[in-house]
Amino acid sequence: MRIKFWGVRGSTPTPEQRNARYGGNTPCIEVRLANNTLLVLDCGSGMRPLGKSLLREFGDRPISGYVFLTHFHWDHIQGIPFFLPLYRKGNTFLFHSVKRKGSELQATIEGQMTNPYFPVDMEAMGSTRHFLNLEERPININGAIIRSAPLNHPQGCVAYRIEADGAVFVLATDTEPGSREHDLSVREIARDADLLVYDSQYTPEQLRRDKKGWGHSCWQEGVRIARECGVKALALFHHDPDGDDIFLDSLVEGARSEFSNAFGSQEGLELELPMPSQGGSAKDIPARNEHRYVLEVPIKVRWVDKKGKQIITEGKARNVSHSGVYFVVHEDVCSDGPVDLDIVLPDEITHKGDMAFRFLAEPIRKLDAPQTEGAGTLSMGIAARILKAHDNKPAEPVRKGAKPAKRPRAVRAK
Ligand SMILES: [Zn+2]
Ligand SMILES: [Zn+2]
Repeated sequence: MRIKFWGVRGSTPTPEQRNARYGGNTPCIEVRLANNTLLVLDCGSGMRPLGKSLLREFGDRPISGYVFLTHFHWDHIQGIPFFLPLYRKGNTFLFHSVKRKGSELQATIEGQMTNPYFPVDMEAMGSTRHFLNLEERPININGAIIRSAPLNHPQGCVAYRIEADGAVFVLATDTEPGSREHDLSVREIARDADLLVYDSQYTPEQLRRDKKGWGHSCWQEGVRIARECGVKALALFHHDPDGDDIFLDSLVEGARSEFSNAFGSQEGLELELPMPSQGGSAKDIPARNEHRYVLEVPIKVRWVDKKGKQIITEGKARNVSHSGVYFVVHEDVCSDGPVDLDIVLPDEITHKGDMAFRFLAEPIRKLDAPQTEGAGTLSMGIAARILKAHDNKPAEPVRKGAKPAKRPRAVRAK
């Protein structure tokens, strides 16, 4: 079973530079079974890039998918009008929700596209769509057993558990601890999950005070559930719109200090379940316990295009950690495979000429970088996972002795 996060943000999309690493799209998770059955959990704005990716993958072949909605708040349905595969004849989608008659589910989904909210109504979509009300008993879709459990959220919400291919995946988002019935139900559905994706929008202080009753949770409760229920890995999810990357790093660090197999859900992140390292060390989990260094230094990106030609573009690395790097470049990096990155520490820092550190990295997410912040023509932001460091030896100067330009000398105080 393969999981891909297309949207991880709660409440509202936040397309902002400060959120670039974790991502600003609202909830949407793709689950692909080993037999290639497509399941989609929630239809937030992350559903739009998912649709484009499916069109690229399937080409002219028909797409069929099984969509599961946790509930109907905007952030969980707003991607539907922008999900291009819905407009294409020959595609088939089966929408599921819990405790809502099929016709009621259809009306709820179509309601957001009626006049005057959207210029095209759902009738204009060429695909075939079915709407199903799930009872509380489990269903079987091409070998996957899927069940739901009620969560504590205004107007209701459900968690989903998918058991397939020898793994268990659980999504429990939009839920607030403190209701005995729901606290039990979330624990029951999370039992022995290989991966629990859990609502971690708030801090315990917020939950005690101004956000009480808003229907969300915190990582501390996620860790309690994970420990009590034998969960193997925990992904913090439904990130607060006000939580920038640095703040989310701190939440993830906190969670990892108490549960080593915890990480932050990140747009573009893909995982195979069961994870190879489960039960052992957390080192294969895309974790963020490592320190992330915020800096701005030159970077060169090299890759080979489809015609076999080597392309190089330049830009700036914005921050770096052991496993990842975020950088902005002049042009899109159109590589199907990994790319080589030279992160250059300039002479101004090394006093030994420019030094390049070379890595093999896999771009996992791209976004348009705003032209503000002095970015100039650096228009494309890319988050990449570092696959390995090339033989960097002790860093070799690439331009020994060049410059140093005239710099004001420090004057020693007397
Ligand atoms: Zn939500
Ligand atoms: Zn909600």
